[in-house]
Amino acid sequence: MRAADFVNVPTSQSPRLAMGDVTKRYGTVIANDAVSFDVMPGEIVALLGENGAGKTTLMKIAYGISQPDRGTIAIDGSVADIDSPRHARALGIAMVFQQFALFDAATVLENIALGLPRAPMREIEFRVLELAARYGLQVDPAGRVHDLSMGERQRVELLRALLGRPRLLILDEPTSVLTPPSVERLFGTLQQLAESGTSIVFISHKLHEIRELATRCVVMRSGRVVANVDPRAQTESALARLMLGADPRALAPHHTLPGDVMLQVSSLIVNAVEGRRLDDVSFEVRSGEIVGIAGISGNGQAALMAALAGEITARSDAVQLCGKPVGHLDSAQRRAIGMRYIPEQRLGHAAVAGMSLEDNAVLTDESVQARLLMHASTGRVRAARVVEKFGVRAASLSQKVETLSGGNLQKYIVGREVLQAPRVLLVHQPTWGVDAGSAAAIRNELLALRAAGCAIVVVSEELDELYQLADRLFVIANGRLSPPRAPRQISTEELGVWMGGGWPAKQPVHATLTPAA
Ligand code: ATP
Repeated sequence: MRAADFVNVPTSQSPRLAMGDVTKRYGTVIANDAVSFDVMPGEIVALLGENGAGKTTLMKIAYGISQPDRGTIAIDGSVADIDSPRHARALGIAMVFQQFALFDAATVLENIALGLPRAPMREIEFRVLELAARYGLQVDPAGRVHDLSMGERQRVELLRALLGRPRLLILDEPTSVLTPPSVERLFGTLQQLAESGTSIVFISHKLHEIRELATRCVVMRSGRVVANVDPRAQTESALARLMLGADPRALAPHHTLPGDVMLQVSSLIVNAVEGRRLDDVSFEVRSGEIVGIAGISGNGQAALMAALAGEITARSDAVQLCGKPVGHLDSAQRRAIGMRYIPEQRLGHAAVAGMSLEDNAVLTDESVQARLLMHASTGRVRAARVVEKFGVRAASLSQKVETLSGGNLQKYIVGREVLQAPRVLLVHQPTWGVDAGSAAAIRNELLALRAAGCAIVVVSEELDELYQLADRLFVIANGRLSPPRAPRQISTEELGVWMGGGWPAKQPVHATLTPAA
């Protein structure tokens, strides 16, 4: 395929997509309230809004997944009654979701072929490889999806969308699991696509990315459009204020001095998880300390978290929890000693999609037995506390968690674990898909938990987040862990070099265990 394949010949200067007066209710929630939204050919429009503002709902309507209660949609000036994603694709619309829709057991190529008209596999593979090379979206067509990191899965989703030669590409939080170099590559791809006429809707909570990529930003709040601005002419704080109606809460670090070692990892070796092995990893985390682990997705983070959380077992003394060897114990047994885990994948791993908020509230209690003994109201009481304390926007506690907006679900999962007052907490991407206000609230909760003596491991691809939270930083690359550094002792540039595996061979002086400034 050549760039020319993407060139559209608009019949007029009609918008590629024009939505007028779109209203959508879910029970008592008005997800979209008389929303008008348009995108011109070749335009990159950012859709910004707090969690639950109605962005995904609006784009699901454009993509034919949901039908509006009221309102109109026009594509290139012609009214379209888009009744299914198949219909949307036939109109040249593609959408990449926050939650990936890939079959884990199938290969990359099989997953991509599923959404395309029938063609010989060799031909599809050729097109995939050509597109991947052109846009810097490298993937192994024969690789199994369950061996891929989130970043790699994201690339597969993008390739799948691009192979349909979209005239309108909708991306819901596409950079949440990408590292800065991958984001730059993605933006290059998107700009190339826009120059050749493809319209792009970019849903994101990352204000600097919106300012870098989009030429227009539509801001939503509580189901309504509240602003339509050129983001390049706005500061990040001005955009945040437009979105939240107020400034985000500042971080309130509580100063703590690390206490006893709560989690000790010694020469941990793990055979491949998501295609990556862990090679002789050792570190410790003390009470009242946050250890941050930076790295490019797919470098062993999944194997490390699985081994720490007990989802895979190891030598018993490879992991010690509160002084007890637990390497051989499963995750429920480790939870009984006070460990909690917030995994990266919200649905299917952290929460059961088809279950209610109430039922999900007690999922990570110590044991199945304890859960069975619980009074039915326990889940309701706990869910209500999480919803209230973490500002989760939900219509009701009996609502299935899969119907929460992405950011609200993340707040729900973080809240559920934090309120159990863990002694050791493992968190993988704490603020994935969360708006600026809620991200600050979640980070404040982690800092408060540290002040209460919890030992916390944060794995994140957001360096800013790690600098804000961590007392000590490590980098994971090729399944190996770097030496530690206090955040103020290492620059982002040096961290970037380490993320490529290039840290000094000899163990330097250990980072001092002082709290983050
Ligand atoms: P986020 O940034 O967190 O992804 P969003 O702006 O994309 O949020 P939406 O996912 O559009 O928000 O959700 C808007 C509101 O509609 C939320 O309150 C959500 O709970 C509700 N909602 C969305 N889909 C459903 C559904 N199928 N059933 C019930 N409520 C729903």
